[in-house]
Amino acid sequence: MTDIDIDTSQVRLVRFLYADHGGIIRGKAAGSDQLVQRMASGIGHTVAMMAMSMLDHLQPVEGMGPVGEVRIVPDPATFVALPYAPGAGAMLADLVLPDGTPWDACPRTFLKRAVAELAAEGYGIRAAFEPEFTVGHRESSPAGPAIPDRLIPLEDSLCYSSTGFHRAHDFTMELVGAMEAQGLTVEHYYPELGHGQHEMSIRHADAVRAADNHVLYRETVRGVAFRHGLWASLAPKPIPDQAGNGCHLHVSLTMADGNSAFTDPSDNYGLSQVGYHFIGGVLAHLPALVALTCGSVNSYRRLAPQMWSSAYTCYGMDNREAAVRICSPLRGDPASSVNLELKPSDSSGNPYLALGALIHAGLDGIRGKIDPGEALNIDPALLSDAERTRLGAHRLPASLSAALDALVVDDVLMNALGPLRSAAYLAVKRSEAAHFAQSTDPYYECFHHFTKL
Ligand code: GLU
Ligand code: MG
Repeated sequence: MTDIDIDTSQVRLVRFLYADHGGIIRGKAAGSDQLVQRMASGIGHTVAMMAMSMLDHLQPVEGMGPVGEVRIVPDPATFVALPYAPGAGAMLADLVLPDGTPWDACPRTFLKRAVAELAAEGYGIRAAFEPEFTVGHRESSPAGPAIPDRLIPLEDSLCYSSTGFHRAHDFTMELVGAMEAQGLTVEHYYPELGHGQHEMSIRHADAVRAADNHVLYRETVRGVAFRHGLWASLAPKPIPDQAGNGCHLHVSLTMADGNSAFTDPSDNYGLSQVGYHFIGGVLAHLPALVALTCGSVNSYRRLAPQMWSSAYTCYGMDNREAAVRICSPLRGDPASSVNLELKPSDSSGNPYLALGALIHAGLDGIRGKIDPGEALNIDPALLSDAERTRLGAHRLPASLSAALDALVVDDVLMNALGPLRSAAYLAVKRSEAAHFAQSTDPYYECFHHFTKL
């Protein structure tokens, strides 16, 4: 059951949260008087919700129809009181069959199993999500309700500029306090390139904790903004002509003794053979992997050459245009040891599926000793097509549909997802791609993404 200590005079409702295939965070809340029972039993939930798109369009998926139940079962270790929602708390939850066994479509279970497979090979993993987001006001169009609302940025400061710090200060300080109150350690904060765009990074953790933290993070950015009368969005491109919001994924593997499995001081870039093989696997599966790490139609508006989001299958040392960046450690800070950063990643996907799939891709590279080739230490967009082809730097899928096409033929990732989850994911994502293909107005797509993500 539970040994968590909840002050029920302060917390009257506890949200049991999960992330769905549309990348939406959903859940149900338990009243605190029944909390202990509901934590043990879970809250009943229709299986159909994992076939729901980010537009609340239910997709026909066998096994996810109107008949059938799962339970939303929270992990007590993740309990937090929500600083931006007085009286409410939250826990991250698994989706479990009524008999208590894990459901084949539970995203959190997918990540736990990926971590277990990695452990069977002798490795642990530390991960961090590095999100950017845009803060602004939601404004309706003077042209009338048929025209989608827009996100008008809070400020138009320059990249990393002190003016940006000033303009967003009250919101930012409340955000820092809310993160820290939930046990998320703020590493860095700065105003970013886009108008209204900010970045706050959170300290790494083990993989499941890092994904849980990212769900809490998304909730907190949006929740604090709402209390200021603002809208904040982690959508990849909430405003068509502004810099996109990435959520680069940082990972490093550890050995049984807790030391880094990625560090080799004798290597040019300080990276071990295991690290190179991990990169080899990631690059080999990248066209399919982005269907999960860049999981929305809106993702592909961001993922373009020379946007610092990466656009080609290549890796490099501290190269911010490479899909995988070997990050140099900070001098005098051994805890910041060499790690790998996946740039084609944003906050519109399901964080458990994204990180779990990244692990499977890297693991395939380790098992198959996949050679990633030479590091590319220039912007691949500056090379000719012939040079890129020679170096194996291929353009990443340019749309969600193209990424899904790559996923379908990637046996490693399809097997890892399993039949139920992959069928549901593909159905949901294909429906989103088809829906947004009907409109040529970029603001229509941006509207649906900034209001929901
Ligand atoms: N905004 C960029 C992206 O979409 C990242 C910029 C940076 O390097 O921080 O990934
Ligand atoms: Mg950034």
